[in-house]
Amino acid sequence: MGADEVYEPLRILKYRRVLLKLSGEALMGEREYGLDPDMVSRVAAEVESVHRLGVELCLVIGGGNIFRGVSGAAAGMERASGDYMGMLATVINALAMQNELERRGVSTRVQSAISMQSVCEPYIRRRALRHLEKGRVVIFGAGTGNPFFTTDTAAALRASEMGCDALLKATKVDGVYDADPHRVAGAMRFERLDYQDVLTRNLQVMDASAVSLARENRIPILVFSIFDDGGFADIVQGKGRYTIIEHAVQ
Ligand code: UDP
Repeated sequence: MGADEVYEPLRILKYRRVLLKLSGEALMGEREYGLDPDMVSRVAAEVESVHRLGVELCLVIGGGNIFRGVSGAAAGMERASGDYMGMLATVINALAMQNELERRGVSTRVQSAISMQSVCEPYIRRRALRHLEKGRVVIFGAGTGNPFFTTDTAAALRASEMGCDALLKATKVDGVYDADPHRVAGAMRFERLDYQDVLTRNLQVMDASAVSLARENRIPILVFSIFDDGGFADIVQGKGRYTIIEHAVQ
């Protein structure tokens, strides 16, 4: 094969290395709290199909289905303590996803921003890159490792560190709207947005620090529905339904 020829399976890929950000709530299903095994399995099936296409994949999973620092703070707890509890919750979700992916034959590693050697690897950037090159799905746990941040920011940070082509934000709807389409009839859907639009219009997609970080590192954010079967695989092949947030073409 000549140097300028592309290996056939890679030809169909628009994005070769991506980070998928899932909220903890995506794994909760109809429950009020915790993990729904059917939802974990459904999301893992989507991840598996993208992995089989040859995409290098990282995951960041939130912890909102178990604990959020702000809700602890609202109940009188010190915010930082609550945030550490939230970060531990993300590791629980990461382990659940790892278990389900490995059951399906997908090789994975969990790396945590808070060291817990008996449970998973510590976050080591170069090691994570090596895992990706070897075709392992890397699941980043414990967010950024710092209180007062969110897993959205952790996702933008890790996507930047891993040199990802895109940050995919899985939601319950098929893109970014100007209001919650589940509540507001006639809410308008955006096809494409500039990072600045998201910030100035205060669109509730990702928090501002995550959007700023993605903007600085020129990583497009694609917002799509994780409930759309095959939607994730479509997107990495340049198809599917999503809103893209990127620099406006000058
Ligand atoms: N968190 C944190 N630092 C981080 C990431 C997360 O303190 O870098 C804590 C924070 O308390 C947050 C909780 O972990 O509320 C769960 O993360 P997040 O709310 O982002 O989860 P999601 O909404 O995506 O399920």
